[in-house]
Amino acid sequence: MERTLCIIKPDGLDSGVVGKIITRIEEEGFTILAMKRARMSRAVAEHFYAVHKGRPFFDDLTAYMSSAPVVLIALERENAIAHWRKLIGATDPAEADEGTIRDLYGRSRGVNTVHGSDSPENGRIEVSEFFSEAELIQQR
Ligand code: ADP
Ligand code: MG
Repeated sequence: MERTLCIIKPDGLDSGVVGKIITRIEEEGFTILAMKRARMSRAVAEHFYAVHKGRPFFDDLTAYMSSAPVVLIALERENAIAHWRKLIGATDPAEADEGTIRDLYGRSRGVNTVHGSDSPENGRIEVSEFFSEAELIQQR
């Protein structure tokens, strides 16, 4: 079964929409394998977004992601990667389809409320960066 890492970014906590996002997760039939609130260090954020190192937004992105707490959620579902990305919408909230999480709550291209993994391989890798296998618990 596919897994995706959901990160509710600092603006999602500032805006008080964690519950609304979790409601969408439940409505869409994802299994929450594990969940926690955490504060990323700058080093963890830089490692997590290493693929973007050298891009003009890298410093702002890693500073932002380590600026305040986030909520990390390990999600499982058939077709989890594509399904979650459809639910969150395009990277830039201004381009996100109506009713998607980034459309509803995102503030800018950089401050866009949620993360989703981009492939089944990366979904597994990203989940395992924040959760041990013992913490990932099946529903039934
Ligand atoms: P996504 O999160 O949709 O997979 P990317 O992997 O391309 O998007 O980028 C990772 C994160 O970096 C984005 O969610 C966003 O927060 C930030 N980001 C990407 N592109 C830009 C940009 N042009 N300007 C500012 N921030 C950006
Ligand atoms: Mg990405």
